[in-house]
Amino acid sequence: DIMSLTATQQIIQDNLDYTLFSWSKQKGIAPIAIKHAEGVYLYDHDGKRYLDFSSGLINVNIGHGHQRVTQAVVKQMQEVSYVTPSCVTQARGELGKKLAAIAPGNLTKTLFTTGGAEAIENAIKLARLYTGRAKIIARYRAFHGASYGAMTAGGDPRKLPHDMQQAPNMIHVEDPYCYRCPWGKEITTCSRECVSHIERVIEFEGPEHIAAIIMEGESGTSGCIKYPPDYLQKVRALCDKYNILLIADEVMSGFGRTGKWFASELHGIVPDIIATAKGITAGYLPLGAVIVSDKIAAAFDEQVLWLGLTYSAHPVCCAAGVEVLQIYEDEQLLENAALMGAYMEQQVTMMELEHPSIGDFRNTGLLGCIELVKNRTTKEPLARYNAPASEMAVMNKVAAKLKQLGMYAFVRWNYVFIAPPLCITREQIDEGLAMISEALAIADEAYQA
Ligand code: PLP
Repeated sequence: DIMSLTATQQIIQDNLDYTLFSWSKQKGIAPIAIKHAEGVYLYDHDGKRYLDFSSGLINVNIGHGHQRVTQAVVKQMQEVSYVTPSCVTQARGELGKKLAAIAPGNLTKTLFTTGGAEAIENAIKLARLYTGRAKIIARYRAFHGASYGAMTAGGDPRKLPHDMQQAPNMIHVEDPYCYRCPWGKEITTCSRECVSHIERVIEFEGPEHIAAIIMEGESGTSGCIKYPPDYLQKVRALCDKYNILLIADEVMSGFGRTGKWFASELHGIVPDIIATAKGITAGYLPLGAVIVSDKIAAAFDEQVLWLGLTYSAHPVCCAAGVEVLQIYEDEQLLENAALMGAYMEQQVTMMELEHPSIGDFRNTGLLGCIELVKNRTTKEPLARYNAPASEMAVMNKVAAKLKQLGMYAFVRWNYVFIAPPLCITREQIDEGLAMISEALAIADEAYQA
């Protein structure tokens, strides 16, 4: 009966009745109706406060409700909202220049897209145009976006229902998942079998057919699988040896998330192409970017760049980007991400003493993930990678508890992500970890069983 619905229930009902929800069955969804948000907090229509421990989809790096962005966007819209990508605006030029300044090495020219997947698609096309080669090497435990090419490039199981028709020439390799090393080695004593594995695949596939290797600057939704310290440098060396381009997917790892502008910098490497999005506008408007080296850019001085989008370099999105990048600097958010990341690591390490369900904690700055296990010795996961719903009972309870306690958290299989906005304080981290601690009691019980 419509009359009995509260205003909040009506909002939720309209959404359920008339809109579709990503990555889920449409029945049994209980979305939070957000009315407003500020800093690290979301507020629903009933006034309940949620601590946003995942920065939206790990994109709202500057925190919510920053009115400087609103003003920059309004100002741009008052002047001009849209121009074709063959016209230019001050915002596009400024943002391009700024990206050239913060990107590592000689990455100086940017093609703007509307989001992460499109950045990946265009990076892949560009690598193929530039090299004249077809194959792309990517990792199984990686997500690069939901469009066909990006999705086939990633190995995230969300692609499996679409695999009856894959984008061709995507070759997959194993990740350096040290907690569960595919080669049964230990990081301190191994010979980086993860790297020799890639080299063997390159040889099998024929280096002369491989356009690029694509890897996240730092692993995100696959569980923040940390690279061994020298891993990306060794991958870079393989690329140089075989004349293969290195594409860094910095969609999630970019813009201060790891304490640096780009995670590539942390690893001391310069990729040939960076594909990025998310933090570039901190989610205030959709924008993606493909940043390429001087050398690649120069190849298109005389050759046609067969790429384009109606909304490439959208003035309003670029204006948001310019302002957001300035906010990272004015508020020293990169420095804070590094500091708070270290604090979080120290606090979670202490939590491990109380919570046997914590198998592993991996973080780089404020890109972090707790991996839950039934048994710390056997490392049996609390829910397997790509576990069916029937194996998710305990994890679902953990997630429901977090929501009830007032946390918006990103939970997948046996992973609880900790990736709050970079403006978070120690007190707010403590507040969040206390909620996680309370919810983990549910997982600990499963461990005892
Ligand atoms: N690449 C990485 C590493 C991501 O984490 C994501 C999204 O989560 C994407 C690409 C896709 O970005 P978008 O959802 O903006 O298309």
